[in-house]
Amino acid sequence: MSDKIISLFRKRLAREKGAVKKDWGGRVAVALAYPNYYRTGMSNLGFQVVYHLLNSKRNIVAERFFLPDDTEMSLYGEAGKGILSLESQSPLHSFDLAAFSLSFENDYPNILKILDMGKLPLLSNEREEHHPLVMAGGVTTFLNPEPMADFFDLFLLGEAEGVLDLFMERYIDARGAGEGRQETLSMLARDVPSVYVPSFYSVEYRGDGTIENREPLERDIPEKIEAARMPPGKPRIATSVIQTPETPFAQRVLIELGRGCGRSCRFCAAGYVYRPPRTYPKEELLATVGEVLNTNDRVGLLSAAITDTPGIENVMELILEKGGNFSVSSLRADSMTENMVGHLKAAGQKTLAIAPEAGSERLRKVINKHLTEDQIMQAAAMIARAGEFNLRLYFMVGLPTETREDVDEILELVKTMKHHIVKESGTRGRIGRIRLSINCFIPKPFTPFQWFPLEQVPILKEKQKWLKKALRKEGGIKVSFDLPKWAYVQSLLSMGDRRVGSILLSAYQSGGDWKQACRFSDVNPDFFVHRPKGLDENLPWDFIDQGLYKEHLIKEYKLALKAKESDTCHVGECDRCGVCTVGASAGK
Ligand code: SF4
Repeated sequence: MSDKIISLFRKRLAREKGAVKKDWGGRVAVALAYPNYYRTGMSNLGFQVVYHLLNSKRNIVAERFFLPDDTEMSLYGEAGKGILSLESQSPLHSFDLAAFSLSFENDYPNILKILDMGKLPLLSNEREEHHPLVMAGGVTTFLNPEPMADFFDLFLLGEAEGVLDLFMERYIDARGAGEGRQETLSMLARDVPSVYVPSFYSVEYRGDGTIENREPLERDIPEKIEAARMPPGKPRIATSVIQTPETPFAQRVLIELGRGCGRSCRFCAAGYVYRPPRTYPKEELLATVGEVLNTNDRVGLLSAAITDTPGIENVMELILEKGGNFSVSSLRADSMTENMVGHLKAAGQKTLAIAPEAGSERLRKVINKHLTEDQIMQAAAMIARAGEFNLRLYFMVGLPTETREDVDEILELVKTMKHHIVKESGTRGRIGRIRLSINCFIPKPFTPFQWFPLEQVPILKEKQKWLKKALRKEGGIKVSFDLPKWAYVQSLLSMGDRRVGSILLSAYQSGGDWKQACRFSDVNPDFFVHRPKGLDENLPWDFIDQGLYKEHLIKEYKLALKAKESDTCHVGECDRCGVCTVGASAGK
């Protein structure tokens, strides 16, 4: 027996705070899988929220599965056993449901690895009555589940808090009634608004490869699937339930200060599919943070726009007053304050990150960033005055309408910032390090940029090479780039339709050789990655109802082409994108 892997899992469990261990007797067993390593999965608040939601039900037991790292893989190899759950070290095929939490397209091959190691057929149509239902949720599924359509029996689209309870109730009913696999899927697809069963739909294509028609194969199966939203009323502030020393957030309790973002950046999927942006009343936030601090003095504050959170300075003060410490991800350059920077310094944060995204004012207008050069310089000066921070800056290359001058302006902006930082920190005698992360722009569904292609890989490489050389001459600036070949794969998995599943399967079966999988595929991957799409085209994800008007996205797309900004969200006063009704409060 795989003693070493079992003992590794037991030691891991012993180091965790907050894991749930339940007896299986009479309960529905859910294998909750994260398609990446333990340390990555446990840093994902969404994954932890679902674990908590499932285990808070008396009649459900949820146990975790992760992609094994190299050490774990060799222990599995020695034991010759399939993949095991962390809590009770049970095999994947012994569960009733195998539920994957998906946040990143580049994790998709890992799903196939976990299914393979769990001895489950990779393709949905090859699974039999005795196999668990294999399902997925998470943000990439409600952006576009189609590239994964062949591998999953069903998807649960939208925010888990809005649909998971109803889904589990109906699933338990079907199981109690002794329904078979197909009947259960059929009942769920009919009764639960956000359930999507890909095999219940047929798709026809035109001669040019675009989608002609898409329709349900059975009566009463909905044509459109509604993405679930957090239920109205008082939303519960999400916090992580398990702490482990093995994550980058070691022993920190993660607290979600808000969901979504009202700034309307045109490239950002989270800014569109988590609409309307939600924040919590200051008192509620302070109460939750206070409660967390009673048992743990280290917290990680999460939000798409931390500095836009009402009462954020009070939250930071409360943590420091109680002798705690906190960390944040990136800050908005135009809403950070000297106070916030001071609190972050007191909390021991070493690096502050801001995201200009583009070097030129023109391109920042194209992406609707609402950020001027003056605001960026003021933020840099503020950080430099505090005296002890390294600065991380996020940029993208390959953005729609980008010219060579726009790329040059990344360099110019960074040079000017460096000048400001040197000037401001000179009086304190310490210059923080500047690090740049420069990523390729990847078009995402449900954004105004969904019709744009990924820029050609050689051009992306050339831009990166030029920036690298120019920044090397500057000195004192570290720079990292993502790899354009992975941006290509991510774009394919993000913008593809269900025909892309065959490329993914072949890449997996050839040990990750995407070049070969793409070359020998019957489907041309460039069709999905490098082709500008028509505004009147049926897009693979158009069947998902996010509450967003497509006309609104088209309007934003056209404004981008003119380098014109549009307004940010004004919840309760605006209904222009379709998600809010004027007068309705956040949480609709
Ligand atoms: S309707 Fe207006 S406030 Fe509501 S999400 Fe859309 S843009 Fe934002």
